[in-house]
Amino acid sequence: KSGFVSIVGRPNVGKSTLLNKIVGQKIAIMSDKAQTTRNKIQGIYTTPESQIVFIDTPGIHKPKHRLGDFMVSSAFSAFREVDVILFMVNVAEKRGPGDNFIMERLKTAKSPVFLVLNKIDKIHPDQLLPIIEDYRSLVDFAQVIPISASDGNNVDTLLAELQNYL
Ligand code: GDP
Ligand code: MG
Repeated sequence: KSGFVSIVGRPNVGKSTLLNKIVGQKIAIMSDKAQTTRNKIQGIYTTPESQIVFIDTPGIHKPKHRLGDFMVSSAFSAFREVDVILFMVNVAEKRGPGDNFIMERLKTAKSPVFLVLNKIDKIHPDQLLPIIEDYRSLVDFAQVIPISASDGNNVDTLLAELQNYL
């Protein structure tokens, strides 16, 4: 099985940290230096059974000007070309305008969207369910997966679930 996956989310939610965990540090660091390139390959996760290509989608942010608008629509058009979109949020922070902006666009995405709840190491487990319910009331997610990208906690579950959508 092989497929394409895009990770979206507002700055600092942990997208690069997750990529580093999955595909190795060097590639993700390189991709951070080339934020202007569209649909750039950020990394490839390969096992004997599968290959997942992670695609960068720069420009997914609240546009401040016309060029921003253009970049956003370009980035979101890439959604049609991926097998899964990972929408990453930070569970240790309140849902904000940056999250809401992306979720508005996710509603028109053709690909299944996983809600990836990152930084679960920073909250008490009891806090997780209300957060999940809040996000799920806004977007119909194909899967909901809590992780800690920095610890690597539950990243194996995320990878296993991705295989089912390739
Ligand atoms: P990006 O902007 O979405 O690519 O976010 P980064 O991957 O650069 O992460 C932003 C910050 O969050 C960094 O300081 C990371 O070390 C930290 N971070 C990422 N994942 C986790 C996590 O699971 N737990 C905690 N506590 N911090 C994390
Ligand atoms: Mg990053």
